[in-house]
Amino acid sequence: MKILVINTGSSSIKYQLFDMEKDDVLTSGVVEKIGESMSQIKHVIHPDSAEEKVKKEELKLQDHREGMLRVNELLMDKEFGVINSADEIFAVGHRAVHGGELFKKTVVIDQEVKDGIKKLSPLAPLHNPLNLIGIEVAEEVFPNATHVAVFDTAFHQTMPKRAYRYAVPKELYHENGVRAYGFHGTSHLFVSKAAADYLDKPLESLNTITVHLGNGCSMAAVQGGKCIDTSMGLSPLGGLVMGTRSGDIDPALFFFLGKTLGKSFDEIDKLLNKESGMKGLTGQNDLRDIEARKDAGEEEAITALDIYCYRIRKYIGSYIAALGGVDVIVFTAGVGENSPFVRKHSLEGLEKLGIEIDEEVNDQRAREPIEISTPASKVKVLVIPTNEELEIAHQTYDVVR
Ligand code: ADP
Repeated sequence: MKILVINTGSSSIKYQLFDMEKDDVLTSGVVEKIGESMSQIKHVIHPDSAEEKVKKEELKLQDHREGMLRVNELLMDKEFGVINSADEIFAVGHRAVHGGELFKKTVVIDQEVKDGIKKLSPLAPLHNPLNLIGIEVAEEVFPNATHVAVFDTAFHQTMPKRAYRYAVPKELYHENGVRAYGFHGTSHLFVSKAAADYLDKPLESLNTITVHLGNGCSMAAVQGGKCIDTSMGLSPLGGLVMGTRSGDIDPALFFFLGKTLGKSFDEIDKLLNKESGMKGLTGQNDLRDIEARKDAGEEEAITALDIYCYRIRKYIGSYIAALGGVDVIVFTAGVGENSPFVRKHSLEGLEKLGIEIDEEVNDQRAREPIEISTPASKVKVLVIPTNEELEIAHQTYDVVR
């Protein structure tokens, strides 16, 4: 069975085609700069194998519909194609961002689901309308496939009230859905399952803390496979320090920016989402650049990384308390998988809590899961490459099978 996974961004479409029986990625690609004067496509067949071939093209794609039509052509291309007809695609798994309290699990998309995603748009004004565009365009291009929505928020729907409610007037929750939802759910689920597999223990028996550090960063406390708390809240702005997002702040900063500095809602939104985090602290958001500056002894970079890692450490402490002890901590995503410094510094001083890192192993780069804790460490610390697309493909497969 072939399953296409689609992730629609504001000006991009990322896609991967999986052969589920063979557990194989047939193609992966990305269409970028949709709607700009020139769009770009990178289409890779049989990625990471001996038969890998890459096709890059620049062309004008007016909208997501044109982008998706071109993807369909590439999938069937004489030289770079992997299927003969669009009908070979049995199902399309869509990454959907905000499922609110409506969608607690992966669902087959019908009109009711689309209405639900639309209804939740006030909670994710940037993402949900885009998801709908992606779904509708894909339904048009792949009319015979079953379309499935996998929500970023769904994994966190098991959180208890004490973790997801905010102490604000209750009407805001009941009438407007104001609560913590959490994001990156597909990644937290994927790596918590992969950690159990790696340790060869039932997921149900483990208390896990998952640390997803990409451009966006979030953590989850996972008890027996179920999320009981997570660091992002109503939106992906809360929690850890990120590339350009502030993470946790005193909410009164909002009044200060508005009343004292006279900024508008849009300006405050931009300041906290796009100009804060590591970018706000250092002027740059790529951790590689900031680490290079830290290595050169630059004070600003050293302080920013200290703030970044300290926030992670505080969340680890609070999640150990929330879980009543932790068996395994997993680092994942761009920074989590690639930065030995961030991993080491985030866990510094936690030896009394049973967390000890083997620095030599921590310095290794691996594409497979690795265990970076010492044999004596009570808590296992793992680095596991995340694979949200594969998780979406598996969930889609489970629903349509
Ligand atoms: P996204 O949230 O966009 O999916 P990724 O998970 O791909 O992000 O992570 C992107 C981030 O990973 C980059 O901004 C970069 O800071 C970080 N990163 C990638 N490689 C390294 C590295 N070798 N050392 C430190 N940080 C890295």
